[in-house]
Amino acid sequence: MRIGVFVCRCGTNIAGTVDTEAVARQALSYPDVVYATDYMYTCSEPGQKEIQAAIKTHGLQGIVVAACSPRMHEATFRRAVEKAGLNRYMFEQANIREHCSWVSNDKKANTIKAADTVRMAVEKLRVNEPLFSSRVPINKRVLVIGGGVAGIQAALDCADGGLDVVMVERESTIGGKMAKLDKTFPTIDCSSCILGPKMVDVAQNEKIKLYAYSEIEAVSGYIGNFTVQIRKKATYVDWNLCTGCGVCTEKCPSKKSYDKFNEGLATTTAINIPFPQAIPKKAVIDPKACLYLTKGKCRLCEKVCQVKAIRFDMKDEIITEEVGAIITATGYDLFDASVYGEYGGGRYPDVISAMQYERILSAAGPTGGHIRRPSDGKEPKDIVFISCVGSRDPSVCRPYCSAVCCMYIAKQATMTRDHLPDCNCYVSYMDIRAPGKNYDEFVRRAQEEYGVQYFRGRVGKVYPKGDKLIVQGADTMLGAQIEIEADLVVLATGIESAVGAEELAEKLRISYDQYGFFMESHPKLRPVETNTAGVFLAGVCQGPKDIPASVGQGSAAASKVQMLFSRDTIETDPQVAMVNELMCVGCGKCIDVCPFGAIQWKTLRDGSRKAQVLESVCQGCGLCNATCPPKAIQLRHCKDDQVLAAVNALYA
Ligand SMILES: Cc1cc2nc3c(=O)[nH]c(=O)nc-3n(C[C@H](O)[C@H](O)[C@H](O)COP(=O)(O)OP(=O)(O)OC[C@H]3O[C@@H](n4cnc5c(N)ncnc54)[C@H](O)[C@@H]3O)c2cc1C
Ligand code: SF4
Ligand code: SF4
Repeated sequence: MRIGVFVCRCGTNIAGTVDTEAVARQALSYPDVVYATDYMYTCSEPGQKEIQAAIKTHGLQGIVVAACSPRMHEATFRRAVEKAGLNRYMFEQANIREHCSWVSNDKKANTIKAADTVRMAVEKLRVNEPLFSSRVPINKRVLVIGGGVAGIQAALDCADGGLDVVMVERESTIGGKMAKLDKTFPTIDCSSCILGPKMVDVAQNEKIKLYAYSEIEAVSGYIGNFTVQIRKKATYVDWNLCTGCGVCTEKCPSKKSYDKFNEGLATTTAINIPFPQAIPKKAVIDPKACLYLTKGKCRLCEKVCQVKAIRFDMKDEIITEEVGAIITATGYDLFDASVYGEYGGGRYPDVISAMQYERILSAAGPTGGHIRRPSDGKEPKDIVFISCVGSRDPSVCRPYCSAVCCMYIAKQATMTRDHLPDCNCYVSYMDIRAPGKNYDEFVRRAQEEYGVQYFRGRVGKVYPKGDKLIVQGADTMLGAQIEIEADLVVLATGIESAVGAEELAEKLRISYDQYGFFMESHPKLRPVETNTAGVFLAGVCQGPKDIPASVGQGSAAASKVQMLFSRDTIETDPQVAMVNELMCVGCGKCIDVCPFGAIQWKTLRDGSRKAQVLESVCQGCGLCNATCPPKAIQLRHCKDDQVLAAVNALYA
C-alpha cells in the first residue's frame, strides 16, 4: 500500500507544543509511507486540495491525517479522500491535538507521543479494507418530544414545511413553562397572547398528531427509520368524547389536589383541566385524589358528564409510531428552594419561588393578578428578590448560570411597581447578566425609571419577625451589612434539567452532561444536533436559555429535519458488526448483550443456529464484539487485527 501522511499544525494549536515537521519526517520511515508533510490548516479548502493532489501525484492508496479529534473532522477528510478516488475507509485520523498538544507543554514529549500516534494510525490503515454503504428509504415523519415553546415552534415549522409530526407531551396540555408566565421580558408582552395562538395552531394543524399526557416508553431503529413506543397514560376520561365543558371539575367534591399549574398556590379538583386555554382542553382524573378510585365511593363526575366521557376502568396504552427523525424539546424543571434552609423556602409561606410569583402576577392566576402574599392575602409593601438560588453555586452542585433569572427578576420587579407603585422592590444580586438585545437597557430601566433598589452581595438569612420577614445580608459594594423588613421574599430558583431527562437520553441513546442537560454534537458548529444521527435538540433541554433562544433552536432543529428529509434515501454506515458463521457456536451471548436488538437467530440448513446481524439496526457499539467467547463477531473497521496492529505499533 502507498500511504500519505499529513500532519496538521492547526495554527499554533498543535504546532505550539508539537514539532509537526519532525513528526512528518519520522512518518517517512514507517512501512508503506511514501509521502509525508506538515500543513498549516489541513481541514481548510487548500489543505484538502493538497491531500487530493498528493493522492493523484504520488498514487496514494491510503491517507493518515494527524490533526484534531476525529469527532471534529473525520467526516470532512473522508469526503476529501473519496473525491480523489479513494474509498473513504482507507483513511485514518490520528488525534495529536486533544491527545498530545493540548495535554502538556513539553514539546519534546508531545512530539514523541504524536509520532507514536501517527505510527499506530499507519499500522491500522495497512490492514484496513474498503467498505461500502447501502441506502435505505427515509420515513419522512418527525417526532417532537415536549410541547413547550421550543417543541411547539419545531412542530409547527416541520408541519408548515409539509411534514407529518407526532408530538408527545408529558402533561395533559402543551405550553410548558411559558404558559405559566404572565408577561415576558424584555418587551413585556403578554405570554399567553403570543403562545396561545401557537398552541391553537398545533391543535388545528392536520399534519400534527398530538399525544398529550404521554411519555416515550422505548425507541429503537436508526436515522430515517425509528420505531417509537409511546405510553398514553390513563386519563380516566375518553378524550374523543370530552368537550372540556368543565362541569365535572365544578362538581368534583375532592378539591384538595396540588395545583401544579399554579405552582401549589391553590388547590384543584381530582378531575381537572389545568387552565382555560389548555390544549387539548380535556379533563384528567388524578387517581391518587379521586374519591372513587381511592375509596370506591363518589362517581359524581360520571353522573354530571353530559357526553358520558368518564372511564374509571381506563388503563395506560402503548402505541407504536414510526418516524425518521426525533426532536427533543423537554425543557427544564426548577431547583428546590428548600435546599437553602437559611432562606426559609418551603418553610415560610411568604418566601416563594419566582415561578410562583409569575402565577401571582398573572391575571389568570390564583389571585386574579392582584399581588397578595400567600400567608394572609395582604398587599406587600416591601418585596426582596434574591437571585442565584441554585445557580452559580458549586456548594449545591449548580455552578452554572441559569441565564434568565437576572432578566425575569427585573421584569417581575418592574411589573410589581406598575401594579403597586408604593411597594418597595429590592434585588439582591451577585452580578447582572443581561447580554441579549435590549436586555441591559431593560435592567437599567428597572433601576433608573422604576426605582428598583439593587444591592450587590449575598443574603445570609431570612427569618420571620411578627408578620414580617427579616432579610439579612451584605452589600459588598458599600461594604455594609443590610437588614430589610420584607412582606414577601421571591427566590430566583435556578434552572435544572427536566425530571427524567437522563432516562429519556438513555432511550434515545444521546449524551447528557453531569447536570442532565442533553449534549449537542458540537457546541459551536452543531448546536441542535446530537451524536445520535437523526436526533435533534431544541430549547432548555440542551441548557438554560430564554424564549427567543428556545424558539430559535426549535426552528433550527426543524430546518435540520427538513434538510434530512429532502432526500428519499439515507446511506447506512458500514461500520457494523458481522458474524463469522464458521466460528459462531450459537451461544446467544451477543443477542443478550446488544442494546439495540440488532442481532437475531438464523437457522442453517443443517439445523444449527447462528447469530445474524441486522445491519440497518446495528449501531456499531462493539458490545457483542467484546462479549463473543469464540470472537466470531467482529466490528467492521475495528476488527481485532486492526486494533492489534495499532497497539503492537506502539510497543514495536
Ligand atoms: C420564573 C421564570 C420566568 C421566566 N420569564 C421569561 C421571560 O419573561 N422571557 C423569556 O424569554 N424567558 C423567560 N423564562 C425562561 C422560559 O421559561 C424558557 O426559556 C422557555 O420556557 C423554554 O422553553 P422549552 O420549550 O425549552 O421548555 P419548557 O417550557 O420547560 O417545555 C418543555 C415541555 O416538555 C415537556 N416534557 C418534559 N419532559 C418530557 C418527557 N420526558 N416527555 C414528554 N414531554 C416532556 C414538559 O412538560 C413541557 O411541556 C422564565 C423562566 C422562569 C423560571
Ligand atoms: S369529562 Fe365530561 S364533564 Fe368533564 S370536561 Fe369532559 S365533557 Fe365536560
Ligand atoms: S369520581 Fe373522582 S374525579 Fe370523579 S368526581 Fe368523584 S372524586 Fe372527582
